Amino acid sequence: MNTEDNAVPDAVHDFIRDKIREDLTNGTVGSLVTRFPPEPNGYLHIGHAKSICLNFGVAREFGGHCNLRFDDTNPAKEDQEFIDAIQADVKWLDVGWDGDVKYASDNFEQLYEWAEHLIGEGLAYVEDLSAEEMREYRGTLTEPGRESPSRSRSVEENLDLFRRMRAGEFEDGARVLRAKIDMASGNINLRDPVLYRIIRAPHPRTGDTWCIYPTYDFAHGQTDAMEGITHSLCTLEFEDHRPLYDWLIENLPVPARPRQYEFSRLNMTHTVLSKRLLTQLVAEGHVAGWDDPRMPTVSGFRRRGVPSSAIHDFISRLSISKNEGTVEAAMLEHCIRDPLNDSALRRMGVLRPLKVVIENYPEGQVEEVDAVNNPRDETAGIRKVPFSREIYVERDDFMEDAPKKFFRLSLGREVRLRAAYFITCTDVIKDAAGEVIELRCTYDPETRGGDSPDGRKVKGTLHWVSAQHAVDAEVRLYNPLFVDENPGAAEDFRSVLNPESLETLSGCKLEPSLSDVAAGEVVQFERLGYFCVDPDASADNPVFNRTVGLRDSFARAMAKG
Ligand code: ATP
Ligand code: MG
Repeated sequence: MNTEDNAVPDAVHDFIRDKIREDLTNGTVGSLVTRFPPEPNGYLHIGHAKSICLNFGVAREFGGHCNLRFDDTNPAKEDQEFIDAIQADVKWLDVGWDGDVKYASDNFEQLYEWAEHLIGEGLAYVEDLSAEEMREYRGTLTEPGRESPSRSRSVEENLDLFRRMRAGEFEDGARVLRAKIDMASGNINLRDPVLYRIIRAPHPRTGDTWCIYPTYDFAHGQTDAMEGITHSLCTLEFEDHRPLYDWLIENLPVPARPRQYEFSRLNMTHTVLSKRLLTQLVAEGHVAGWDDPRMPTVSGFRRRGVPSSAIHDFISRLSISKNEGTVEAAMLEHCIRDPLNDSALRRMGVLRPLKVVIENYPEGQVEEVDAVNNPRDETAGIRKVPFSREIYVERDDFMEDAPKKFFRLSLGREVRLRAAYFITCTDVIKDAAGEVIELRCTYDPETRGGDSPDGRKVKGTLHWVSAQHAVDAEVRLYNPLFVDENPGAAEDFRSVLNPESLETLSGCKLEPSLSDVAAGEVVQFERLGYFCVDPDASADNPVFNRTVGLRDSFARAMAKG
């Protein structure tokens, strides 16, 4: 409750928080109640995260409460899989949700009664026109609609027909219940919108109890009222529906009066955030599933190793306003990369291995060198990494006819091996096809730890893995899913899919400590980026995902494209 000694916080300002502050201060509402109302017909994406952080965020800030409510009014498209996934995602986002789930379907009986109430008041009627005919009668933005012949039915006939709809006497789509408002309204949503339709599909919660279902437009505001929602926050596309919601609330004996406020949705470059398009990506196999790490879904980010704190940081930088805009995907990447740079342990992994034999290193000898776990955090300490005569380095770190500025390996050049020795390339071994398959090098035993006592400088420092100790792994690298900055604007968004969005590398060579990275932990592979273990991994087949590279991948994608 808002009392004078319970100060309303005023740290963050946007038009929604300002309105809430005003309503609490004036006593227009006693305490704040919001809700996040997903339809369980897909997984949550980063746009939903904006809505979740806003709804749960203001509830926490203003000492109120936020409901997670499933708007489960269309069993033809909804599924238990989605209900479960959405709950897991909201839990992971850690927004203070206490596990209490609400469903629009909990109120189907009450909604049905209210539909009969409207019929009784002469404010709703059963329509016989087909969907096609209704569209024709509806008119356009510039022309008024026409009244359907069904509009003049008596209350008794409407009640009888509606009860028979419920009893299952009619085929799917044969009839609907419509509100009787105004076919000439300038707002098409008020031209006798549909309130109930016949759908024979098993509902995840009510099974086959019902064969008629309320539309989202009918269920939404009334469910808000039943839950005592004070501030119903939604995206701008519902602005034109607000007069309908208000009409319904005014004409029904609802227990409370919710108010709706609309803010602009999140749009992001290089991705689509429409459930219809995301569903298509999954259904047509362009990605491996809703939680494919290339997807802009909450579960995709989680699988990719993105900490939920990075999502919160990103969302907190977005404005809550009515201005439509598009946020750079690079900004989200930045929010992911920045904290990892401070926290992630450094490790060595070679993605495209090239064997190096150090000819003057004693055969059979193994020593352990000390490698720093995190140069930005002394308390992270050091680890022992085995070093031996045969190691792997990155194929890219060798070049045959190297330009002067190539500070890595080339015949006759010297480099530093991270935490180990200086080595010099003395010979290049090729196969019959002329491919480089191995390098021969010598090492300088005086340079252990990475410094030369004679002050000799080398410019390049390479990561490496001892061949006999290496853990073989699969590594998956992700690039933007779309080459186009605005894939939603393409005639067919599938035509701008990035053919190189996933690179799967097998036979990668990792330092031994990488065999026990915990689920959910993100480590830095030196010089390559941040990586986590994928759920596909098993003891004999480690699989790592690249969470994010060390540099902006979108700039690179654009330069290529
Ligand atoms: P569609 O993609 O077909 O428009 P939807 O994503 O809106 O569907 P819902 O389950 O209705 O699906 O969304 C739940 C809530 O999330 C709604 O209140 C909606 O306003 C909000 N929401 C959806 N997309 C975004 C977005 N991109 N930015 C902010 N909020 C969003
Ligand atoms: Mg929606």
